[in-house]
Amino acid sequence: MAKLIDGKVISAAVKERVKQGVAKLNEQGISVGLAVIIVGEDPASKVYVANKKKACEALGIVSEEYALPENTTEDELLSLIKELNAKKSINGILCQLPLPRHLDEKLIINSILPEKDVDAFHPSNVGRIMIGDYDFVPCTPAGIMEMLAYENIEVEGKTCVVIGRSNIVGKPMGMLLLHKNGTVTICHSKTRNLKDICLGADILVAAVGRPKFVTEDMVKEGAVVIDVGIHRTENGLCGDVDFENVSKKASAITPVPGGVGPMTIAMLMQNTLTAAKRQNKIG
Ligand code: NAP
Repeated sequence: MAKLIDGKVISAAVKERVKQGVAKLNEQGISVGLAVIIVGEDPASKVYVANKKKACEALGIVSEEYALPENTTEDELLSLIKELNAKKSINGILCQLPLPRHLDEKLIINSILPEKDVDAFHPSNVGRIMIGDYDFVPCTPAGIMEMLAYENIEVEGKTCVVIGRSNIVGKPMGMLLLHKNGTVTICHSKTRNLKDICLGADILVAAVGRPKFVTEDMVKEGAVVIDVGIHRTENGLCGDVDFENVSKKASAITPVPGGVGPMTIAMLMQNTLTAAKRQNKIG
């Protein structure tokens, strides 16, 4: 039976570290601030934003929430971002995605100052990840790297397979594993012989967006399996991995819920602290 990689325990450790970092800045008279913008009434987005606010409060980060109506124009949103870009007390700006259809997501993300882009979606931050010289990493892959480090799972020399090539999970995940000297394959919907490729993985990351997609016959004995997926089913939450059967074969595995999910907000808090330090030329 695989060892459980417990996202609740590891995220609590990250949050404690951030809390101490924030307190240290506060002692020097520096506050840490995050602005969260939400446009419209998407219920899932509202829950995410509420959770981010709660996390900020617990760690001493000042959070400002900007809840804008669904019919907000691009100009209105851009002018709010411009204001927040210039606001000294705000170190990080996050615009909750997805945005309503009439708003150009790319244009909005690109208008956030890269040094305040704590989601690491701005092309400048994406490029910096590519060359291995970065301050921020998208929160989900950053959280996964934190989990591997916490569990002393060595990446160097390992065969790493990532299923999924999204800009927020799959691609940055592949780059981070590469920077740690893993040998990385990124798979997607056009990949041939997916099962054979997965069977070669020492570390397998599933970010497919399909419930229980990774089955036991795709996993090598003793592999480390990281499940990014989250799906609401009749029987509760499940991931992209068939946990029940894969956990009998893997050496370590993240559960859903309680795995990668809790890491994401913790890493957002970490990125916000990093932003505050950089903007105040500390560390
Ligand atoms: P996404 O943008 O939908 O990307 C899914 C990727 O999976 C795509 O690259 C797609 O390939 C690939 N794919 C789809 N079907 C496939 C197949 N049959 N074989 C191989 N590859 C296939 O999703 P995402 O945003 O990366 O998220 C992935 C999952 O993680 C979702 O369940 C999401 O809810 C979850 N998630 C969780 C967290 C968290 O905090 N735990 C954070 C973010 C996302 P193509 O590129 O060829 O289409």
